[in-house]
Amino acid sequence: MQCVFCGGKTEKRTVTFSYEDDGKYIFVENVPADVCTKCGERTYSCDVTDMLLKFAKQEYKPVKKVMVPVFDYSQKKRGTVPSTP
Ligand SMILES: [Zn+2]
Repeated sequence: MQCVFCGGKTEKRTVTFSYEDDGKYIFVENVPADVCTKCGERTYSCDVTDMLLKFAKQEYKPVKKVMVPVFDYSQKKRGTVPSTP
């Protein structure tokens, strides 16, 4: 398969799909995708996309929940940066 964006070669990989909707985040692990070896663009098949939409709509129970540290680049000058001794 060829990348639709840069024409590079794609290869089959399993990736972690992340999705954000109105401040709610989900991650789907072990998603089969065609990943471009040049630009990293991921392409999902129709079946996979359908499934991802179902996960996004929370039609399934998550297998686990994780705590995710969130950073805000625009806030980098505020907050405390740990000082090195
Ligand atoms: Zn590409």
